[in-house]
Amino acid sequence: MDLARSEAAVAVPVSEETAAGSSLVRISPERSAEILAVRDRVVSDIPASVARRLKREFADLENELLDEVRRARRGVDPVDLLPDADELVERFLGGLGNEVAELVDGAREFVDDLAGPAAPVSVAEIESDLRRIVGDALASPVSLRLGRAATQDDDGGDVVDRLRLAFREWRRERLADVAGDLATAVLNVAVQASLGRTGSACWVVDSAGAPCPDAEDNSLGGAVRCGSPFPTGDLAPPAHAGCRCQLVPVAAVLQTLVGG
Ligand SMILES: [Zn+2]
Repeated sequence: MDLARSEAAVAVPVSEETAAGSSLVRISPERSAEILAVRDRVVSDIPASVARRLKREFADLENELLDEVRRARRGVDPVDLLPDADELVERFLGGLGNEVAELVDGAREFVDDLAGPAAPVSVAEIESDLRRIVGDALASPVSLRLGRAATQDDDGGDVVDRLRLAFREWRRERLADVAGDLATAVLNVAVQASLGRTGSACWVVDSAGAPCPDAEDNSLGGAVRCGSPFPTGDLAPPAHAGCRCQLVPVAAVLQTLVGG
């Protein structure tokens, strides 16, 4: 029987400890560790590469913007010179082309390793997800922060100095974490895409990430059809900044049952 293709199999309890009659798929700690090890292998140093790439994008953006602000004619509002969130999405997505492609490949390898042959997914297929992810994690907060820097002059400082400070803050305090969130989000939507609309996934908690109390509910929620919300309302990790949980094809969990 092909468990990977069988929706009914989702209702089978996976471990002996699962209450009799439970319709929930429970993932043993051992299987979770195996799954996260595969995830770590396919993701490897991509988040660091995302962070480096974004640092460069930020440096270029800062130079261009400060140049424009300095050269602007008197009376021009610096706010009008700022890129809006949509422009930032384009820019950051453009800069991250290689890393996104690597994550999409990584998702396929992940599914393949854990649950058998995965459908190929192209970057174009998850384009709207990518825009949403980059917009939410990066472009919108950066746009807000730059907007504040360009308008708040209560401290009497120069607008160029305030913009510089905003960029520095992001580079030093936010980028590395946001790069990890982006990698987590892209990998997970690519995993969902490779499972297709009728596929189901389970939520595996990674307690090595930032504490994720809600994720236990998602994990206990069992298999959820791709595109439907987990108990916390999230469609996929990250559930919050720093969350490193992982979706896994339900077949990868059911194989533990089959295997013993
Ligand atoms: Zn989490």
